[in-house]
Amino acid sequence: MKSVWVGKEYNSVIRELKRFRKMDTHFDSGKILGSMCTRPHPVAIKAFEMFIETNLGDPALFPGVREIEERLIEAMKNLVSAPSNATGLVVSGGTEGNINAIRIAKILSKKRKIILPEGAHFSFHKVASLMNVDLKFVKLDENYCTDVNELETVIDGDTAAVVAIAGSTELGTIDDIPSISKICREKNVFLHVDAAFGGFVIPFLKDIGYRLPSFDFRLEGVCSIQIDSHKMGCSVIPMGMLLVRDKKWVNSISVESPYVSTSRQATILGTRPGASVAAAYAVIKHLGKKGYKEIVKKCMQLTKYTAKKLEEIGLELPIKPTLNVVGVKLKNPKKVYEELAKLGWRVAKLERISCIRLVIMPHVTKNAIDKFIPDLEKICKKTGEI
Ligand code: PLP
Repeated sequence: MKSVWVGKEYNSVIRELKRFRKMDTHFDSGKILGSMCTRPHPVAIKAFEMFIETNLGDPALFPGVREIEERLIEAMKNLVSAPSNATGLVVSGGTEGNINAIRIAKILSKKRKIILPEGAHFSFHKVASLMNVDLKFVKLDENYCTDVNELETVIDGDTAAVVAIAGSTELGTIDDIPSISKICREKNVFLHVDAAFGGFVIPFLKDIGYRLPSFDFRLEGVCSIQIDSHKMGCSVIPMGMLLVRDKKWVNSISVESPYVSTSRQATILGTRPGASVAAAYAVIKHLGKKGYKEIVKKCMQLTKYTAKKLEEIGLELPIKPTLNVVGVKLKNPKKVYEELAKLGWRVAKLERISCIRLVIMPHVTKNAIDKFIPDLEKICKKTGEI
């Protein structure tokens, strides 16, 4: 391969980048049906560009974006009914948020056992390898939610934290967090809610009349909640927020930060992109709760349509969709996934529960679903699924 260090003229570099970019699947192709990310809202792209050089690791240089960060945290606290003493950490996404939540729980409790449902996001395996904690998985019930009875029996004196999921990676399910919160409060155990996906969906669906379990700080046992802007927040990658019930808990994971303009730093990243924060703020400010309600309403309408079309061609759904995520039960999800990929369709495969997964994000259109269903039907007939 020719050396990259050749010093090419600007236009030539851009031409080369365009060739690479053509190899990517674009959200507006209509073919991405399995991603939890989406094309960022135009106002996010504009804000990202405006704040591209800002670093929240050294906020005295960038008081403007620091002020945006504070306002964004207040806005997110409002979304999840956080008490006034709560705070938020801007993180790079669900993985970093989950890591920080467990760091807090482990330091506060001085214990090592983390209880979480089967199918929890694989970021918790990173938590285990980074932090010397033991993961204890609880089975799912027939609705693919944490089995609360089993959960109650496995909490013991070594338990540092319980993790509940609001919008699971596999099927978008929401645990019975009111019951889990009650148990954790009684047993005095830290409860982290992973709402990386559901955080920007559930509050808005509830507002428009969907009956979904509560997951936020109104439940007294909830200690922290992770929510990602780069998923249903419609903003740019990388961006999420960990909301924490008590400011003091964040101090417990912070370290002294000499050389930069803060005295202590809690995030895992040192240099942090102000551009992502400005982008996430811009989308919230522009769409408002009304705009997000319209987005989730449309996504859910298309989700129901998709579920109906899948059943019409004889496919089985593991559950009726809770959020804008549809699973399809298959004998050989890997084969179907590969055949779909040959036609350019990008879905997710969930071999653990023998499904493929569609995520009906804002970029997914009815037109795309109407083209996808006959392709899927043909493949499923050919491979003996139907
Ligand atoms: N938690 C949940 C529920 C997720 O669905 C995901 C990713 O899909 C994550 C955490 C990890 O998020 P990220 O990839 O932004 O680190």
